[in-house]
Amino acid sequence: MNICGYYPESINEGEGLRASIFISGCRHRCPGCFSPATWNFKYGELFTEERQAEIILDIKNNPLLSGVSILGGDPFFSAEEVNDFIDLLRQEAGPVPIWIYTGYTFEELLAMPGTPEFGLLERCDVLVDGRFIKNLRDPSLLYRGSSNQRIIRISESLAAQKVIDWEPLYSF
Ligand code: SF4
Repeated sequence: MNICGYYPESINEGEGLRASIFISGCRHRCPGCFSPATWNFKYGELFTEERQAEIILDIKNNPLLSGVSILGGDPFFSAEEVNDFIDLLRQEAGPVPIWIYTGYTFEELLAMPGTPEFGLLERCDVLVDGRFIKNLRDPSLLYRGSSNQRIIRISESLAAQKVIDWEPLYSF
């Protein structure tokens, strides 16, 4: 698996200060995608064990972080590898809250029980879901690009078998 970006501290991909990791590869091909270069699974750098350890150490040693955000591409196309990374991260750094971004909808992921994709959904805390739709683009939206995309509390939504929206802790 390759990553095509890493910010040790960012305020753009979820609430609070977050470490953001961008996983290469996406097959959704949304017209108007912000970065078609990230569709390529070979784009960026190989996510080696050394690079993973380096990033985990950054996260572990940064008390200011609210959590980690995982974006792409679409990390759900590399679900097995991302699951392994999350397990290692939590083993080394404790119960780190994770936001994850995907072009799949919550309902599409819900229909994949027993798969690595469903396992990835279960491992994370907040899901930003849905393909980017150019006509629904709205730069004023918090943490997402188009108004069809939702910010979802995962464990509550899985328990209810329906979408429970995330609400911001802080308002601006
Ligand atoms: S899901 Fe994201 S990365 Fe993939 S094509 Fe759509 S906007 Fe681009």
